[in-house]
Amino acid sequence: MSAAQRLGAEVQVVIASEQPNTLQKRRPDNLLTLDFLHPEEAARAAREFARTRPISAVVGVDDDTAVVAAYIAEALSLPHNSVASALAARNKYLMRQMLHGGGVQIPSFALFPVDGDLKAIARQVSYPCVVKPLFLSASRGVIRANDESEFIGAARRLGAILGQPEIAARGGELAKQFLVESFIPGQEVALEGLLIKGELHVLALFDKPDRMDGPFFEETIYITPSRLPTEIQAQIAQCADQSAAALGLREGPIHAELRINDQGPWMIEIAARSIGGLCSRALRFGTGARLEEIILRHALGMKIESLDRERQPAGVMMIPIPGAGVLREIRGLDEARSVPGIEDVTITAHVTQKLVPLPEGASYLGFIFARGADTETVEASLRLAAQRLQFVLEA
Ligand code: ADP
Repeated sequence: MSAAQRLGAEVQVVIASEQPNTLQKRRPDNLLTLDFLHPEEAARAAREFARTRPISAVVGVDDDTAVVAAYIAEALSLPHNSVASALAARNKYLMRQMLHGGGVQIPSFALFPVDGDLKAIARQVSYPCVVKPLFLSASRGVIRANDESEFIGAARRLGAILGQPEIAARGGELAKQFLVESFIPGQEVALEGLLIKGELHVLALFDKPDRMDGPFFEETIYITPSRLPTEIQAQIAQCADQSAAALGLREGPIHAELRINDQGPWMIEIAARSIGGLCSRALRFGTGARLEEIILRHALGMKIESLDRERQPAGVMMIPIPGAGVLREIRGLDEARSVPGIEDVTITAHVTQKLVPLPEGASYLGFIFARGADTETVEASLRLAAQRLQFVLEA
C-alpha cells in the first residue's frame, strides 16, 4: 500500500482479500472480496469488477495469491506469468518435475500418499532425506530424516500437519500427498529477482550464514551482498534463470532458495513472489526505492529508475521462535535497538499470541534489520541484537 502511494495519485489500489473487509461497502472501488481457493471464480469476479473500474495490473503477495493473480491477469489479458507456470511454482512436485525436465540440478524426488504404508515407503527411500508438503511455505512441515525410523516419525508428523482442517481444506488433493527428496548438504543462499519479458534481473543475493542441516529448517540470518566468489554467484543466477525458464515464469518477482556444494548450485525452490515476511525492508534500490515499488512499477509498465541495490551491505534476521507457548512479555527491545548498525527491530507477534515452533508453526516472531560497512559487521550486529532480546513464554 505504501509503495503504491509513493507512485503517485494516479495509481489507485484495489485490495482483494478472502474475507470481506468491514469497510467494503463504503469503499467499493478499493476493496474486493475474492475466493482465493477457487481462482477461476476469483478471476470471473475480478473481470466483473473491472467492467466498471478498469484494472491495469494485478500483483499477488504470497504463494497462493501468485496463482490467483495469474488467473486474473489471464482473464483481463494483462501481461503476466501463465497460469500453468504459477501453478507449477506453487506445487513442489510439479515444480520438481518441470525443473528436472529443464535440466536444472535438483535433489532426487518421489511423491507418496500421506495415508500410504510408511514402513514400506521407508524401505524404498535413500538417506538422509527430506520430507515436505507440496504446498506450504516458510519451511512448515519440512523435516529431515536420517534413517527408516526417523522417516516414519517425520512422515507421521507431516501427515498430522496436513490433516489440520484449515490446511487440508486449503490444500485439497495436494494435502493428501507428500514429497520425499534427497537431502542436499551445502551452504544456502536466497536469490531475489525480477523477470521482465522472460529475462531475469538479479535484485539481491543473500547468504544464509547459519548452517541449516535439519531436522527442521528455521530461517534466521540473511545477508547481502553474498560473500561467495563472483563465479559461483554467476552460476547461481544462471541456475535461477534456467529454473524460471523451466517453469515458464516470465514476469514479476521471483524468490529462490539454492544450496551450493562441490557440485555447484542446486535449486531447492523457486517461488513466483517476492521475499516473505518483512524481509524486503532490508533492500533498497537506486536512490532509495523499495522492492515493492519496483514490483508495482514493473507490473504497471512504469519506468524503473534502477534495479541496482544500494552498495551498503544489509541484513535481516528472522527472529527464531524460542519455544512453544503463549507470548507473555518481550524484554530487551531498547537494548537490541541500541546495538550499533541495527536499524530496526520489529516484533510482529503480539503478546498473548500462541507461538508454535517448526515444523508445525507458520508465523514469524519478528525481524531485526541491520546495515554496516561490511557483511561481517552486519552479521555481528544482528547476532548481538538477537542475544539482547528475551521472550517470556507461558507453557
Ligand atoms: P518452503 O517453501 O516451506 O520454504 P522448501 O522446499 O524451500 O519449503 O524447504 C525449506 C527449507 O528446507 C529450505 O530452505 C532448505 O533449507 C531445506 N530443504 C528443503 N529441501 C531440501 C533438500 N532436498 N535438501 C536440503 N535441504 C532442504
